[in-house]
Amino acid sequence: MAAPPEHVVAVVAHPDDAELMCYGTLLRYREQGAAVTVVVVTTGINGVSLADRGLGVSLTGRERTDESAASYAGSGIDLVTLGFTDGALVPDRELVSHIEAELARLGCTVLITHSLHAGPDHQDHLAAAQAAVNAATRIGTCATILHGQPHAPRGDFHPTVLVDITDLLPDKVKALAAHRSQAGRWYLGAEFTRHRAAEAGWSLAPVRAAAGRRFEAFETSLISLLAPEGDR
Ligand SMILES: [Zn+2]
Repeated sequence: MAAPPEHVVAVVAHPDDAELMCYGTLLRYREQGAAVTVVVVTTGINGVSLADRGLGVSLTGRERTDESAASYAGSGIDLVTLGFTDGALVPDRELVSHIEAELARLGCTVLITHSLHAGPDHQDHLAAAQAAVNAATRIGTCATILHGQPHAPRGDFHPTVLVDITDLLPDKVKALAAHRSQAGRWYLGAEFTRHRAAEAGWSLAPVRAAAGRRFEAFETSLISLLAPEGDR
């Protein structure tokens, strides 16, 4: 009996996080026939710098949701927003319950979320990761958890999984550019995205990096490694 298809679910704190950590990987899973859903926990409405706020710049949740929709347009990836307020996310009962309900509804088999070592990164990232991992352990279908690279270039991230996104890198750059309200942020620029994809290869698979291959990197915490066929 053929194994049931994968349902990959990316649970992330903010509207641009999945594009930054795993856009190429999500496209690769789609290519291989998996269903893919991105669950964005917050609206991202507070994603305005204090300097910009001083200049009277503000955001609506709708604006950022529209940007997300634009970045996944035509990809076959579904988008769900849970509507929490960004900036003050805590991995409490309410957050875990909401994420658990989504993972169960979708029949998640692969969870992608932030790193559990995302401490020096945005405070919401660690909270979303903790809640997502907690929720994933409560449902029976999720066998693999991948943790994407924190945006901030520091911390304790030690990846062991590489996904080759060489041919998908232009799509990733384009998807990040769709987040127009965040324009000017260094981590959304094409240069940083290309650097990150090269760096991942050079640090873990230099022979492939030297051959021009580019990657997204992940830590992993596997709940179960092997299950009888049809019993996943
Ligand atoms: Zn974020």
